[in-house]
Amino acid sequence: MAKSSISELAPEGARAFVQGHHHLFIGGERVETGRNIDVMNPATGDTLTEVPLAGNVEVDAAVAAARRAFQGYRGLSGSQRAKLLWALSTLIDEHAAELAAIEVLDNGKPLGEAVAVDVALAAEIFRYYAGCASTLEGAITSNSVPGMLSLVHQEPIGVVAALTPWNFPLLETAYKLGPSLAAGCTVVLKPSELAPLSTLRLMDLIERAGFAKGVINVVIGGPDVGDLLVRHTGVDKVAFTGQTETGRIILKAAAEDLKPVSLELGGKSPNIVFPDADLEAATGGVFGGIFFNQGQACVAGSRLLVHASIADQLVASVVKRAKSVRLGEGFQPTTDMGPLISAAHRERVLGFVDDAVSEGAILATGGTKANVEGLSGGYFASPTVLTGVRRNMRVAQEEVFGPVLSVVTWEDEDELVDIANDVRYGIAAGIWTSDTAKAMALASRLEVGTAWINTYGMFDVSVPFGGRKQSGGGRELGHAALTPYLVAKSVWVNLDARPVNSGQSIGK
Ligand code: NAD
Repeated sequence: MAKSSISELAPEGARAFVQGHHHLFIGGERVETGRNIDVMNPATGDTLTEVPLAGNVEVDAAVAAARRAFQGYRGLSGSQRAKLLWALSTLIDEHAAELAAIEVLDNGKPLGEAVAVDVALAAEIFRYYAGCASTLEGAITSNSVPGMLSLVHQEPIGVVAALTPWNFPLLETAYKLGPSLAAGCTVVLKPSELAPLSTLRLMDLIERAGFAKGVINVVIGGPDVGDLLVRHTGVDKVAFTGQTETGRIILKAAAEDLKPVSLELGGKSPNIVFPDADLEAATGGVFGGIFFNQGQACVAGSRLLVHASIADQLVASVVKRAKSVRLGEGFQPTTDMGPLISAAHRERVLGFVDDAVSEGAILATGGTKANVEGLSGGYFASPTVLTGVRRNMRVAQEEVFGPVLSVVTWEDEDELVDIANDVRYGIAAGIWTSDTAKAMALASRLEVGTAWINTYGMFDVSVPFGGRKQSGGGRELGHAALTPYLVAKSVWVNLDARPVNSGQSIGK
């Protein structure tokens, strides 16, 4: 493999890490497999580095390591687990510049976003779940049997297989690790093969934070490796984030031994604008809602549902902003948007645009590959706005996962609700109006996991996030995210001196 030159603007630590030798992380050991896959720099189309590809042997070893570590790790007190999680959050803060730069190289996103969103929220997640680890509570329940005490303990579910996507690599890893480690689980991570580097760098910090060997393990590979992990009998729970179609496959695979699965899947979110909205604020919300992370976000506000009376005015101002977007490498301070993750993904995104145009949509701007000076091999696509989109077109129904905004107009609110809910997905929606009561009423009619009113894409570590319908029903962030990693165990204690036969009191 010929290693590429890496941007001079990347900090030395990140360059050294990326160009170094990479390993799987199994039972605290750095493991080579003799089979490697290339990791690409999407801004240049060059090979960044190579990483080892796991197979059956490594998946078995990683699950075995996590099983061995489980009894010890679950035996730690909540405050001991809290200390480890807190130490990890501090190390992430200390290495924020380096982690953000790795994300830029591996994923292509602008540096400012990687710093402010990916890395900052990842550190917050570990801090938040440090707090949760030391405050997990069971319960003493009332019962009607004389002389009997009944308790409910919250126990860790066991070994978790966590499969993550490439769009927010470090952050998605943190979403899974924070609550599972707080609950006392051990984990085998499988980051996306397209962007595994920040997860690998995190393992160095995990080791330094003091987690015991085997508590967290990493295997790398594509669908085959993911499938081995999902089907592994040593795995107690699967936590998956990715495409809806993959979620369906994983659910079927996990059904064989009835493993619980949490699913965070795709989206087709409406960004709804009323005639009484502050149009400048709405323009910003619509623009950021679709073009943040190059549109590669599950919450991308990919459908602009705008009242017909203001459609021309709003679309004109969104198109103006879209035309002013500066594409480039994420390290350049002038870069507003980076490349898409791969050449194949860009083809897929532009295919949606071609289909829409052939179905009668109008290309208001974009819809092409973009040539960025000095980066001819990069996977850039121009920010795209399609008007005249009908609700049943493929581009209005399916997740594009790229910088493509579909504009659909509506006349009355019942029609609006009908259009907004007329997709198989249900992650999020934005509502722009000066009438908050009207917005609250509308929010309750939308089949989504999150509704944002006069804002879009707002996240906080303490506020649960997740989807409905075919966007999956899991919840991440907040206390809600702990639940899938815990199992309730009821314990009965006979406080009476006289023996009581089993089943005597409840007739089972
Ligand atoms: P993907 O489904 O292709 O892959 C996700 C992970 O699953 C990767 O690690 C991949 O290697 C693995 N995988 C793929 N096929 C598999 C199989 N058959 N068995 C086991 N593992 C398999 O998704 P992606 O393209 O990496 O990510 C983009 C998708 O993720 C989008 O649909 C996006 O909306 C979704 N996403 C959702 C959320 C959310 O919170 N709902 C957050 C981020 C991304």
